[in-house]
Amino acid sequence: MPQVIVVGAGVVGLSAAHELARAGHQVRVVADADTADTVSAVSAALWFPYRSEQSAAADLLLERSLARFEELLPVPEAGVARRPGTVLERTADPDRSWARLFPDAAAVPPDLLPPGVLSGVRVAVPFITVPEYLPWLVRRLESLGVAFERRTVTAVAELTGSADAVVVAAGLRSGELLGDDSSVVPVRGQVVRLANPGLTDWITDDDNPDGLTYVFPRNADVVVGGVAVEGSSDATVHADVAAAMLARATRLVPELAGLPVLGHAAGLRPARPTLRIEAVPGHAVPVVAAYGHGGAGVTLSWGTAERVATLLGDLLRG
Ligand SMILES: Cc1cc2nc3c(=O)[nH]c(=O)nc-3n(C[C@H](O)[C@H](O)[C@H](O)COP(=O)(O)OP(=O)(O)OC[C@H]3O[C@@H](n4cnc5c(N)ncnc54)[C@H](O)[C@@H]3O)c2cc1C
Repeated sequence: MPQVIVVGAGVVGLSAAHELARAGHQVRVVADADTADTVSAVSAALWFPYRSEQSAAADLLLERSLARFEELLPVPEAGVARRPGTVLERTADPDRSWARLFPDAAAVPPDLLPPGVLSGVRVAVPFITVPEYLPWLVRRLESLGVAFERRTVTAVAELTGSADAVVVAAGLRSGELLGDDSSVVPVRGQVVRLANPGLTDWITDDDNPDGLTYVFPRNADVVVGGVAVEGSSDATVHADVAAAMLARATRLVPELAGLPVLGHAAGLRPARPTLRIEAVPGHAVPVVAAYGHGGAGVTLSWGTAERVATLLGDLLRG
């Protein structure tokens, strides 16, 4: 049974580990942060290709991920549900290529659009409640016999003596770990969690001139975001940013006014001009990179994981 080490316990590493274990590999996930402390745990997480690569290859990953999340709809513990909501658009030619995957997607009547918004799409997409989903995924891995190890890896060469193959799914630090890629940049995000008075529909206003704005109701809370500060490595919560986000969101969803604040979080999206899901030559054993998912790591996770398993299987078969 080939031994594979996956570096990274965020949504990309865990999903890759799942597919590799299912393909018959003996898998160990090595990470220096618990899943609950990763960027993935900060994610809201709506199935939506926000700040992700636009290409035929990425479209395939979106499609595959969508299919896999839909398979999880009947599994209550996984925390995946299809929820209706609205994408607001403020540009004359918005990218709606993703909407082809949803036959129920419909244009929002112009009289229902907020001021300054040119168009909108009403659609039901998978909504992944990460505080339920990620622990469920970890439990799935444990049941598949995947082992977990907590430590910092400083170079891939450290691992190649004890594994037949390595997957680098280390998010923002993947390029540095591989030593051949400086194109990953952090895009700072921040969210506020509010008590949910019974809201169900989500809304996103990505091009709001005052800043990215979204409202994502979950069962237990409402996640309000966000910001997208390109190049910022500051993963701390800022009270003034939270107040501004809440003010913008309340203009969109007036029911948010005065709701109790349950918590705050911030995280750095691992952005890259293109996704990197490929074999990395020059190592003693096969190495596959899987990172650069920007603001859509959950959205693209299963498609990425399937691709990693296929690539690695081919490499191991030689
Ligand atoms: C505010 C916010 C909202 C978001 N909303 C959404 C959304 O609605 N939908 C969506 O699809 N996406 C969303 N995202 C984006 C999504 O969270 C990311 O794309 C995704 O989490 C990236 O996952 P990852 O597994 O690549 O990285 P991470 O979650 O960052 O995990 C990286 C892992 O690698 C490990 N690691 C790194 N370097 C080393 C090392 N040297 N040694 C050992 N371990 C190492 C870390 O410990 C960690 O376990 C959002 C992000 C933010 C910040």
